[in-house]
Amino acid sequence: MGRFKLKCLKCGREYGQQYRLTCENDDSFLRAEYFEKKLELRNQPGIGRFHSWLPIQEELTTAAGPITYKSEALARELGLSNLYIGFSGYWPEKEAFIKTCSFKELEAYPTMQLLKENGEKAIVLASAGNTGRAFAHVSALTGTDVYIVVPDSGISALWLPEEPTASIHLISMSPGNDYTDAINLAGRVAKLPGMVPEGGARNVARRDGMGTVMLDAAVTIGKMPDHYFQAVGSGTGGISAWEAALRLRADGRFGQKLPKLQLAQNLPFIPMYSAWKEKRREIIPELDMKDAKKQVEETYATVLTNRAPPYGVTGGLYDALVDTDGIMYAVTREEALEAKALFESLEGIDILPPSAVAAASLLKAIETGKVGRDENILLNIAGGGYERLKEDFTLFLISPVATARNPDVPLEELNI
Ligand SMILES: *Cc1c(COP(=O)(O)O)cnc(C)c1O
Ligand SMILES: [Zn+2]
Repeated sequence: MGRFKLKCLKCGREYGQQYRLTCENDDSFLRAEYFEKKLELRNQPGIGRFHSWLPIQEELTTAAGPITYKSEALARELGLSNLYIGFSGYWPEKEAFIKTCSFKELEAYPTMQLLKENGEKAIVLASAGNTGRAFAHVSALTGTDVYIVVPDSGISALWLPEEPTASIHLISMSPGNDYTDAINLAGRVAKLPGMVPEGGARNVARRDGMGTVMLDAAVTIGKMPDHYFQAVGSGTGGISAWEAALRLRADGRFGQKLPKLQLAQNLPFIPMYSAWKEKRREIIPELDMKDAKKQVEETYATVLTNRAPPYGVTGGLYDALVDTDGIMYAVTREEALEAKALFESLEGIDILPPSAVAAASLLKAIETGKVGRDENILLNIAGGGYERLKEDFTLFLISPVATARNPDVPLEELNI
């Protein structure tokens, strides 16, 4: 018996329960429509609690999941009375057990499960670091093959809290190639027989896995937050939060007002900020990311440097920003570092660079009156606890099985 169907957001065409990334008629996103219209929490320790709205048959039993708590110290410092932190990472004192330290793990579990339930063999993805780590970890736990393409800048981020397994096939790229080059190479590898692309934002398991951050917050607060803060590179987390909010609104028990998306990019690489400032659906490279490669190299939070984000596509970030009357911020490296120090000293846990960018955008929002002091604010700390993890675990670096010179390298040369 199925639990959901897929529906195209443009032409309305429906598809059954399957691993599918695109509509046959157009390039719009598909969205999962769940037969359970009310969120019914399952008795699972982690993300499996939110099985109602995950596109898989079997419940996930992992302890890894999003957690939400009400901030005291940072909230007091900022003069906020209802600041909630959504934390995706490792912080056992708060029952946060994401050992690859980012919310990418929330997409990896349901994606790998959906793959398995549909009889697919191996999955291919590109990663600036965090996604690759998440999928490698789930591959080590389940034995499912993953092919991960990372730019040179991401290779040091490919560690695991356990011994790497032969099911993990890591392909690195020579210096000079960035995340978008990795995406292009991964696209070619995914066309090999027996492989499927992970699909990025097109993958409903990815979006609905990440959307559990919003679900956890709504369940913890008792209603949807008024504002949602996150740093974005592809914007998938923002889209996911919006879609989760649409489901919560339809459920009826969590309020009717959609959270306002307040999303940040890291200067100098800010294509979505730049396009949204002019309320444009299209990103125009000459205007919004001139000298993109150079900008990417200068960006502190490298995870946020996607040159082809799902912004203008039907169901993408532009639609999410329009529907929630969203705001975008451009944050400097210095602002991010300052916010990082403030957050870590007051909340007592280390956070990853993109989450420092998110925290900095909250400070900007307060300064410019974009949030009310008593409103419910959800700050999505999408990555953290790396320093905390190192106290408890030995980390293992994953060795590449091949290195690609450029995204167009003949695949035979890689010998994968
Ligand atoms: C991937 C990532 C982001 C950006 O996510 P989007 O896909 O752009 O929503 C932000 N923070 C962390 C920690 C991440 O790993
Ligand atoms: Zn369609």
